[in-house]
Amino acid sequence: GNWLGIVGGGQLGRMFCHAAQSLGYKVAVLDPAAPCPAGVAADLHIQAGYDDVGALDRLSALCQAVTTEFENVPAASLERLALNSRVCPAAEAVAIVQDRLSEKAFIQGLGVPVAPHAPVCSAADLAAVPNTLFPGILKVARMGYDGKGQARVATREEAAQAFAEFKNTDCVLEALMPLDFEISVVMARGLDGSCVAYAPALNEHRDGILAVSTVPQQTVETQQALYEQAFEAAMKIAQGLGYCGVLCVEFFVLQDGSLVVNEIAPRPHNSGHYTLNACVSSQFEQQARAMAGLPLGSTANLCSCVMLNILGDVWFDEAGMQREPDWAALLAVPNAKLHLYGKAEARRGRKMGHVNVLGGTLDQAREAAARVAHILGIRF
Ligand code: ATP
Ligand code: MG
Ligand code: MG
Repeated sequence: GNWLGIVGGGQLGRMFCHAAQSLGYKVAVLDPAAPCPAGVAADLHIQAGYDDVGALDRLSALCQAVTTEFENVPAASLERLALNSRVCPAAEAVAIVQDRLSEKAFIQGLGVPVAPHAPVCSAADLAAVPNTLFPGILKVARMGYDGKGQARVATREEAAQAFAEFKNTDCVLEALMPLDFEISVVMARGLDGSCVAYAPALNEHRDGILAVSTVPQQTVETQQALYEQAFEAAMKIAQGLGYCGVLCVEFFVLQDGSLVVNEIAPRPHNSGHYTLNACVSSQFEQQARAMAGLPLGSTANLCSCVMLNILGDVWFDEAGMQREPDWAALLAVPNAKLHLYGKAEARRGRKMGHVNVLGGTLDQAREAAARVAHILGIRF
């Protein structure tokens, strides 16, 4: 049939629906929440839990291929889907990436550098970690996102405190790296193993959440060697995972110029939202193409782009009163492309949408982005 399926009803699923539908597919979304951003965009919303075997079987019976929009889908659910349907990415790939410890071990095994780290699964583990990991960041091994489940720790005592706050759940302690900047490579790997990658985005985080991604139409010459290295690492990872679909590799660029992988997202990524307007084919279109076994699209940049995330904070004024952002003013800025996710309730720190601000040059995109940021009341 011409149905594609997705487990998860958030904004990534919603944008996947739009892209797949424009290629002529019908999309079925599995998510327990109704309404949800992807559910209302889908041709069919199966309202059920991610581990509901009956619902999973219904999804896989209907769809030629199924994907996910978040990394914490139970691996067992992906295995269940695979009984009837192609699952991209496969359960084994997602399982590796779901756990920061197996993720880091896997990346290291490919000869790609990661931050110095140690597992912290018990008080004894914590007593044994080397002093060189302080100051560090303690991260829960599973289920963390947007900086949740992370604590900066200066000392072993602080780490012990944070570990207790995380209820002694398995963690990884990473050394705090001297970052110069952060980039990410969004890429797609097709059923036949062919790979395409987008120009890396330069990412700025605030409070552990992505705030701004910047991409010039043409790679700056001084970054070319670094970006080649990042592409190579990302391809190695995709190949090593036997991956099918879209994935993102987040990198730290250290002050000495070296490149370290932070983490892998087994799905389209927030830092790849610029591809919706600035590239020939978006990351969501690539996901549909990969799932359907179609040729992958061009990743070429049509222009420069600054992507601004719109968090729920924008709905609150200085006095903490709720108000509607001035969309009309934003839309009056030429080359500002607004994407709202249709979430019912604005909460601080919640991703509500993003704006892609396009420019013939990066400076032009930045200038317009500054206007948009001012209108929304966000820092840029
Ligand atoms: P998401 O999945 O939403 O990207 P996350 O919760 O998985 O976020 P990370 O990507 O691990 O979080 O970390 C969030 C940000 O915190 C990083 O992008 C980086 O800015 C900072 N950070 C994380 N780990 C380190 C580290 N070892 N050294 C320095 N900075 C770090
Ligand atoms: Mg993450
Ligand atoms: Mg991250």
